[in-house]
Amino acid sequence: MSDIIHLLPDSVANQIAAGEVIQRPASVLKELVENSIDAGATFIQIVIKDAGRTLIQVIDNGKGMSDTDARMAFERHATSKIKNADDLFSIRTMGFRGEALASIAAVAQVELRTRRSEDELGVLVEIAGTRVFKQEAVQCDPGTSFQVKNLFFNVPARRRFLKSDNVEKSHIFTEFYRIALVNSNVAFSLFDGDEEIFQLPASNNKVRIENIFGKNAKKRWQQQLLTIETSTNLVTIYGYVGKPEYAQKSGSQYFFVNGRYMRHPYFHKAVLLAYNQMIQTSESPNYFIYFEVDPQTIDINIHPTKTEIKFENEQAIWSILSATIKEALGKFNVVPSIDFDQEGAVDMPTGMSVENVRPPQTNFNPNYNPFGTTNYKRPVLDWEELYGDFEKKEVPIESSPSWQPNFDSPVMASVSSTGQQQTIENVDSHADNFQYKNRYIFTCIKSGLLMIDQHRAHTRILFDLYLSQMENSRGISQQVLFPEILELSNEDALFFEQIMPDLHLLGFEFEALKDSSYSVKGVSSHVGTSSVIDLLLEMIEKAKTTAYDASISLHESISLSLAESSSVKSGQRLTNEEMSDLIDRLFACANHNFTPDGKKIMSIFTQDELEKRF
Ligand code: ADP
Ligand code: MG
Repeated sequence: MSDIIHLLPDSVANQIAAGEVIQRPASVLKELVENSIDAGATFIQIVIKDAGRTLIQVIDNGKGMSDTDARMAFERHATSKIKNADDLFSIRTMGFRGEALASIAAVAQVELRTRRSEDELGVLVEIAGTRVFKQEAVQCDPGTSFQVKNLFFNVPARRRFLKSDNVEKSHIFTEFYRIALVNSNVAFSLFDGDEEIFQLPASNNKVRIENIFGKNAKKRWQQQLLTIETSTNLVTIYGYVGKPEYAQKSGSQYFFVNGRYMRHPYFHKAVLLAYNQMIQTSESPNYFIYFEVDPQTIDINIHPTKTEIKFENEQAIWSILSATIKEALGKFNVVPSIDFDQEGAVDMPTGMSVENVRPPQTNFNPNYNPFGTTNYKRPVLDWEELYGDFEKKEVPIESSPSWQPNFDSPVMASVSSTGQQQTIENVDSHADNFQYKNRYIFTCIKSGLLMIDQHRAHTRILFDLYLSQMENSRGISQQVLFPEILELSNEDALFFEQIMPDLHLLGFEFEALKDSSYSVKGVSSHVGTSSVIDLLLEMIEKAKTTAYDASISLHESISLSLAESSSVKSGQRLTNEEMSDLIDRLFACANHNFTPDGKKIMSIFTQDELEKRF
């Protein structure tokens, strides 16, 4: 038999690469505008038509390109921004991979006009599906204009995958904000067809925020923003945080590092924690926070469409950030008089990362699983008799292998044997616990009485566990005898494929059947009695909405779905031992004050408050 391996033609290779970089019109906009910023533009005009489907045009007054460069720019791995591997560690530009233009040209019809100020004539390049149709000299202004027409004209599957105009436009605005908010010295205009959406003059960050979001009078930006500023040899942090009273259901929350938007769930939690008890759990504060660090200390060389950035000094910066915000809130006298952090013994040790916080050294037997009793009958309880406003029936708890922290899982065992210990001196989890309405656990602490929402507490515990399992590639699978079938639409199947590797790490196993159906062959040992199919559907739903969500990653979204569905429910009776255990494990979590989606887990009745009642 003859040899069968051959190299793919460029047009195919580029189209495959485009699948990664260019997902929708908003990705094109992001790449083009970032190129304009890198080219030193001070004015960038953007025009979109039909939510970017038929046209995305970006015109800048940047440095332009020579005619050779104009052609070269569309080659894969062609870039002017780095030369060698060392440069990867000192990136100051937005781009550096040299794949954006090649990808765009593989899946759209592109017209480029560009001229350097020193050249008399500019150049026009027309390219579509990686084929160059035209290259000729033209009269044009200095700078660069890209017209990207009929995105995915040659990839019908991708085209069908696009959402409604409104959704695509909102993705476009999201990308636009992320760039415009951190480049306030650059003027922007954005037109949707003939309609002017934004006209942003060059300004400073605060004015830019006002110009972008000011239309929304409810937020009253000028009044609500507190300035933060700090400079250490590790990091400079500056920007604005909203006063607590302006917190909203969905706040405007932006982090930037070295001129680049980033997601950073861990720093996000530092911010939330600084607002601890000042805002409702269902609300979140607005913030616009800019970090400057030595580019050598961050890693942006991850997936092209991802916005996560790794920091070398993450824990230290966490503490600096948290302290800076607390100080700003304190200065403006918005901190309540009872400071949870000083009062309670249960505050989060600042600067401690999730990775470093280990379960406390308690005297539990690692093989003892207090929640794992099967066919356990929930007794009718005193509290139920006293407060009979909820279901009293005897409910057999189905033989559920584990809706509970899995103490004997190898992950937990190894974590606790290697990790440093966090001791919680003032919460004596073995004394004075009681459960109220089978929903809250009360326990005495030095400074008063602590009230814990059992479902939320357990959700936090499991969430941290699942997340670390995904990151450490471990999870236990239970084979099922009669596999259930998951039937999906084509679109959902795409998302499902995206989250499948993570589900696999948690212990799920699937076999692909035809027509976007999957047989569920193995189930994570953490999934309790809830329907596996419902759970998977919910995860897919979440995965869809988190694709562009700034505050939660795919890993987190999956862990959260799983944690919510498998954690102990409100209304479930817990034994004393179970309560102690829950408390111990909760305080082993780095962020034990809030659930991953920001709901309050606990509240303290201070000694003072209690005594005042008499
Ligand atoms: P990257 O930005 O990663 O270098 P791109 O494919 O986005 O890769 O762009 C390739 C090259 O084209 C850039 O390195 C730059 O030299 C040039 N280029 C792209 N857009 C512009 C622009 N608006 N003005 C000047 N040069 C540009
Ligand atoms: Mg680029």
